[in-house]
Amino acid sequence: MKQLEKNRTMELDTFQKIAEHEQVMFCNDPKTGLQAIIAIHDTTLGPALGGTRMYPYATVDDALEDVLRLSAGMTSKCAAADVDFGGGKAVIIGDPKKDKSPAMFRAFGQFVDSLNGRFYTGTDMGTTMDDFVHALKETNFVNGVPEAFGGSGDSSVPTAQGVIYGLEATNQYLYGNDSLAEKTYAVQGLGKVGFKVSEHLLKSGANLYVTDINTASIEAINEKAKEMGSIVNVVDSEDIYNVDADVFVPCAMGGVINDQTISQLKVKAVVGSANNQLQADSHAQDLLDRGILFAPDYIVNAGGLIQVADELYGPNHERVLLKTKAIYDSLLEIYEQANLDCVTTVEAANQKCQKRLTEEQNRNNFFVRTRRPKWNIKE
Ligand code: NAD
Repeated sequence: MKQLEKNRTMELDTFQKIAEHEQVMFCNDPKTGLQAIIAIHDTTLGPALGGTRMYPYATVDDALEDVLRLSAGMTSKCAAADVDFGGGKAVIIGDPKKDKSPAMFRAFGQFVDSLNGRFYTGTDMGTTMDDFVHALKETNFVNGVPEAFGGSGDSSVPTAQGVIYGLEATNQYLYGNDSLAEKTYAVQGLGKVGFKVSEHLLKSGANLYVTDINTASIEAINEKAKEMGSIVNVVDSEDIYNVDADVFVPCAMGGVINDQTISQLKVKAVVGSANNQLQADSHAQDLLDRGILFAPDYIVNAGGLIQVADELYGPNHERVLLKTKAIYDSLLEIYEQANLDCVTTVEAANQKCQKRLTEEQNRNNFFVRTRRPKWNIKE
């Protein structure tokens, strides 16, 4: 009976979340085995944009819950990154290691196309650029494809640059000087983003603690440091939280700021690319109580999103980096507003996004935003 009651509550929660969405579409194609859900949360700022995740969800309810949560998050991300897109997301139910086929992604492309430009998508966990090359045969509403197919390529470059701007803004706020030099950073994860960030920090004359569970990445950063006549301090993955550093830079996975890790942190700030760093919303307040400045992850890691959104104007790396630079001012504004209002930086960031959405709702009329996306209007 208890379980039944719990399920009922979950269903009501999900129902409430659906009601907060503009559109939710279930896609079934028995011939290819495609079972997908596309969720469009909010198109106030423009067509919905969000990656397509492929995961072996245990139930359709689990898939639905995930897509609704992720698409709502994209509305805030797009508002924060100042791109002309709204929030959306898609999930494909299946094991990416064995259930994928080119035909499945062509079928998915047809469903995306049927939305006639209300939803743009690309890769996420479990899907690759190659999958979307197949989808591209059926729809133009795809981004993040390889450069050879008209895309803008590796998004970790602007993401890493965004983290660097975030670190500079943090130093500016804390020390009145945005130089990265002579400070100590603890970088967790030396993957596509973390490695580039570490390399930039080394070049800037910073001191580094690093960790990764992949020994090849450790070897690569040691090699890079040697080339530069510098050194990095490598620590075990569980020791990265309590090193004597100024800034913790999480670039591996989510949930790393939690009840176990917060009490270990000696840093003055947390600034990194990992998505959903706080295990629970309340951890933002816990960090504030301990005097640790938190850079909301969706502000800092927006470089990749900026690149994907910018692709529709034609790939241009210079323009993307220029737009990514806005992360510096945006983060500084959030820090200052949070301080003025005595709220967490997460609350200040959310308020900033909500303000942009409200301003656009008041400015736009329905016809313009749904029928004629900006880039189709001939000036
Ligand atoms: P990646 O998979 O290339 O790198 C992640 C690295 O973290 C890997 O080297 C992995 O070995 C390491 N790692 C995993 N678990 C670890 C642990 N317990 N301790 C230490 N290291 C560990 O991913 P990425 O593209 O560099 O992205 C890093 C983070 O930033 C992810 O959370 C991702 O969602 C987020 N992000 C990335 C982008 C992008 O453009 N790539 C954009 C926005 C957000």
